[in-house]
Amino acid sequence: MAETAKKVGPTSDPEGGGSLLDNPLARKLVAEMLAGRIATVKPQYDFTTELGYVYPAVDQAANLKGEEALALMESLAARDIVRKSFFDRLIRCPRCQGVNLRPSSHCPKCGSGHVVRGRILEHFACKYIGVEDEFTAKGKYVCPRCRMELRTIGADYRSQGVLYKCRDCSEIFNVPFIKWRCLKCSSLVTEDEVGEVVIYSYTFEESKRNWLEFELQPKVRFVEFLSQHGYKVTENAKVRGRSGAEHCLDILAARDDGLVTHTVAIGIEIARDRIGLDRILDFDVKAYDSGIHDKILIAIPELGEEARKFASYQRIKVLEPKDLEILLTGGRHAARETVREPFEFKSKSQLIQYLEKQGYTVKEKTDVKGRSGAVHNMDILATKDEGIITHRIAIGVETDDKPMGLDRVFDFDDKAYDTGILDKVFIAVPGLTKEATQFAKRQGIRVLAVSQL
Ligand SMILES: [Zn+2]
Ligand SMILES: [Zn+2]
Ligand SMILES: [Zn+2]
Repeated sequence: MAETAKKVGPTSDPEGGGSLLDNPLARKLVAEMLAGRIATVKPQYDFTTELGYVYPAVDQAANLKGEEALALMESLAARDIVRKSFFDRLIRCPRCQGVNLRPSSHCPKCGSGHVVRGRILEHFACKYIGVEDEFTAKGKYVCPRCRMELRTIGADYRSQGVLYKCRDCSEIFNVPFIKWRCLKCSSLVTEDEVGEVVIYSYTFEESKRNWLEFELQPKVRFVEFLSQHGYKVTENAKVRGRSGAEHCLDILAARDDGLVTHTVAIGIEIARDRIGLDRILDFDVKAYDSGIHDKILIAIPELGEEARKFASYQRIKVLEPKDLEILLTGGRHAARETVREPFEFKSKSQLIQYLEKQGYTVKEKTDVKGRSGAVHNMDILATKDEGIITHRIAIGVETDDKPMGLDRVFDFDDKAYDTGILDKVFIAVPGLTKEATQFAKRQGIRVLAVSQL
């Protein structure tokens, strides 16, 4: 494999990356990030709010506050559109869920909050231990218990250093017992009781730029384009393949033209670099297994050389950014309002009229050159160029005096195959044998059995 491009597109995401960006608020925020106006979404403390913090950037760009803003950022992070990093840890009141709490020191012995911190002195004579403040009187140290003056450190008294003293039970201690006072509901709770919440900042993931730029603009327009052409569009479509495997197609577009149903598999490959052969091979295998022969691959920024050759050989229509732009802005293939009416075969001329009404160009008894070099004469060839894809329907008309066997259908299928036409209709007068019908079904040929033309 000459090119290997790291996959960053939506198909690398089994959940399907498109759905989040269906949310217009997410789109607004992401657009701000792509425009470079927001690089990192940072929290700002605001104890008047429920959460205790806000994301001003989300508020400004998407007008979302509180939990909703947080949920949006989390969903972007889950899609790797932003990278989250630790910002702060807040503690939460278990009673009212507030996050504005103040620590308070308590006595580890009796639990009282009436504690003081200061230099602790011990009077040797009476063994009284207290905070320095208790001993000071008129510029001298006087013991509050025995009223003796303390003169010489080391001889009369000693200092135990800076510690805590409980005013209620006189306990001296080094480490106070910390409780938290909620400034919203005034509850006093212990350390084990408080909840905690980690808050994050979110930084735009530059490696997602190509994918997002596509998701936000051309993809939406492309899906609209398909809808305008009468397609029923499913994004991130799950399709069960003939092998039994389930495939996810980025876009599945289907339109029932009455005579035939056009199903188009659309793959989206976005990488930082050129798209390699492996990616297009995957797409082709998926489409093949799903029995879909109309294939479009959107390749951003572009296909590699090998991949391009493969696409052309496998009749995969490739749309690179410039092609997309032309397709989506060009009015050349303006959507045509097609009349949708159920098809029922009456006559050859009615069939032709029906197709022309659907926008097909119809030719009778026309020569088409096959891949083998042979020239085949088609009874009816209907062509419709939609800009993105050209639909060709081969229609064979065969008449006999009894139901026709396998050989007639086989010849028709062979012709169609050689010319690369995969939408096939076979008009059999007066019909087919059972064996021939089964063959036609297996080959995806629509059979119209009529008693006479
Ligand atoms: Zn004393
Ligand atoms: Zn105490
Ligand atoms: Zn509280």
